[in-house]
Amino acid sequence: MVSIATLGSHCALQLLKGAKDEGLETLLICEKKRERLYRRFNFIDKLILVDAFSEILEQKCESILQKNNSVLIPHGTLIAQMDSKQIESIKTPIFGNKHILRWESDRALKEQLMKEAKLETPKSVPNPKEINGLVIAKRHGAAGGKGYFLASNENEYNKKRDQLIKEGMINGDNDLYLQEYTSGVLAYLQFFYSPLKNELEFFGVDKRHESDIDGLSRIPAENQLNTDTISSFNVIANSPLVLRESLLDDVYTMGENFIEASSKLVPPGMNGPFCIEGVYDENAKFTSFEFSARIVAGTNIFMNGSPYTTLIYNEPMSMGRRIAREIKQAETENKISKIIT
Ligand code: AMP
Repeated sequence: MVSIATLGSHCALQLLKGAKDEGLETLLICEKKRERLYRRFNFIDKLILVDAFSEILEQKCESILQKNNSVLIPHGTLIAQMDSKQIESIKTPIFGNKHILRWESDRALKEQLMKEAKLETPKSVPNPKEINGLVIAKRHGAAGGKGYFLASNENEYNKKRDQLIKEGMINGDNDLYLQEYTSGVLAYLQFFYSPLKNELEFFGVDKRHESDIDGLSRIPAENQLNTDTISSFNVIANSPLVLRESLLDDVYTMGENFIEASSKLVPPGMNGPFCIEGVYDENAKFTSFEFSARIVAGTNIFMNGSPYTTLIYNEPMSMGRRIAREIKQAETENKISKIIT
């Protein structure tokens, strides 16, 4: 029987609780400083204590995972703390398609995949000199919105960029990606695709609470103008949304197009959880600025199921539990190679 392993952060609790609900053994690769936190949860069977998550690449950790017949579930922390080469070199079987994670962290590849998926995206601005209208400057990698800022012209951009350099967050222009700012209702669309059933499941929608951009709206406009700080987009929390039902058909189409595009560009394609992130404008048109090719932390809201999983399952179904169920099914049907890389 396989066991489920993940890094102690992001959505580890959801993943391991879901695995336990499906009757699987659970392992947590846990930084020593977080041991006290994770020992509180009795659905975690084993803790592998490490000083840093990069130890997952070392023989000692690998052999524990191998002995336990573990499948590793990747999440945002893995991507934030390891580059794609390191991720590809992990010997433990990874749930989903680990090759697509590189397409998530590399902006050029990301744009290519989103185009192929026919997703409407905001225009990127290749040079700060070309800023003409509000843009968002984003750091590369899974920075979680930290150190992102808005600028309306080159001067403003230069000022804020220099501040980030001073704070040691970036080295220069090359560390920033500029994109037109899209205004509207932000929505993060969560999906699960099962290659075993050849079926797309829409799992839920969330919105993020990002500091301190969310805090700014509480300040009167004249005071906002006086604040000279960078308005970071650091994710602090998530809350649930339900969409107008008339939007759902397009949501499924976007998910299906994404699956089709990824199977063409990144074999074996997208399998398991993913998220398409963007903005609905006043005409309910969706512009997507990002995707995540793995479970997102916004699914933590729905540990007991979401309005949408209630429509598919007659039991509480979290994304973590859904993943465990897929792994169990693959094992029973002798198709585990179809869902891991
Ligand atoms: P990302 O790293 O692309 O997920 O962006 C982090 C956050 O920045 C998002 O959750 C949004 O709040 C904001 N954001 C990113 N791109 C855009 C955009 N083009 N227009 C408006 N907001 C954006």
